[in-house]
Amino acid sequence: MRTTYANAVDSMVLDAVALVDDLVSQALLASASDLHLEPGAGGLAVRLRLDGVLNTIDHIPASIADNVIARLKVMGELLTYRTDIPQEGSFSFKGLGDLKHDVRLAVFPTIHGERAVLRFFCDDGQPRSIDNLGLSEATVASLKNASEQTSGLILVTGPAGAGKSTTLYALARHMLDATPGRSIVSLEDPVEQRVEGLTQIQVQPFGELNYARAMRSLLRQDVEVLFVGEIRDAESAHIVIEAALTGHLVLSTLHSGDPAETIARLIEMGIAPYQLTSTLRLINSQRLLRKTCPDCCGQGCECCFATGYKYRTACGQAAVMNDHLRQAIIDHTPTGNLRTLVNENHPSLQECAMHLVQMKQTTTDEVRRVLGTDDGSGRTDTE
Ligand SMILES: [Zn+2]
Repeated sequence: MRTTYANAVDSMVLDAVALVDDLVSQALLASASDLHLEPGAGGLAVRLRLDGVLNTIDHIPASIADNVIARLKVMGELLTYRTDIPQEGSFSFKGLGDLKHDVRLAVFPTIHGERAVLRFFCDDGQPRSIDNLGLSEATVASLKNASEQTSGLILVTGPAGAGKSTTLYALARHMLDATPGRSIVSLEDPVEQRVEGLTQIQVQPFGELNYARAMRSLLRQDVEVLFVGEIRDAESAHIVIEAALTGHLVLSTLHSGDPAETIARLIEMGIAPYQLTSTLRLINSQRLLRKTCPDCCGQGCECCFATGYKYRTACGQAAVMNDHLRQAIIDHTPTGNLRTLVNENHPSLQECAMHLVQMKQTTTDEVRRVLGTDDGSGRTDTE
């Protein structure tokens, strides 16, 4: 194990500047998405968000805590003499191989001093190809098939942090490869990955160029395929459906549990059952599960910060529109019965997850953390 910051500071090996450089390098090396420095009575707890989960990895003694926060504030060009207000900034950090990383810094006053959170914008280690996300072969085949159609609606759903946009980006890459020559535009907030060949537009949900306005204008611009970052409200749901009904292929995401719940939510938003049945091609509801660390097989090692996990895999249930589902939607079938019908035709999220456990890709603990106990709904409380 490496020397802890407490030992290093005691033996005067590290000053605040060196310690901050070391902290940020460690976090980048571990492919963390965030680094938290959380003040308590005895100093700062150092926590890394690895594969979506916060892990406490070290502790910075109180004697140097203020200097560490002050050093970060200098780097982020914040007001060092103000310790009583929240502040936000950013800086560029040179990591391994002189690779530059953009870091966003936010500090917030607490009763034990300032709390700092750093967010890293770099390659998150997620796979880029639709074949490598961890989705089952059947799901990938359904997604590819739907994406090669000329019109209709494809939805990727799940809670926040379920890898929905990673799946859409992977699908966009597949479409650019498999069916070149189409006019493909994406509306995003924010643009998370740059995709060669895709026209990407940054929308401002609360500004002038919001989803609804951007979509309306684009429909007059001879666009064939439209990626819409998220269906947030009834207005964007209606425009998405309208686009799909008028000969466009639309791909989007929705914050909802499983395919049956997705259908129920769209109907709650005022979409008529006949509009759904004539546009919807596929709903892929997914989650991300942490993978068992390949270096220690889950025992915990230095490489996985003793968590036993490294990297993540997607796990999804793809419901394809067919005659049974179409009739059930037209008949206003209750969500529970709709769910039973979908599960009869497509392995449920729980079943897909347990398959990954059998393949030793992940653990039952991880499945429980992400999917909760099995009530059949595929709902989850972890956000
Ligand atoms: Zn390990």
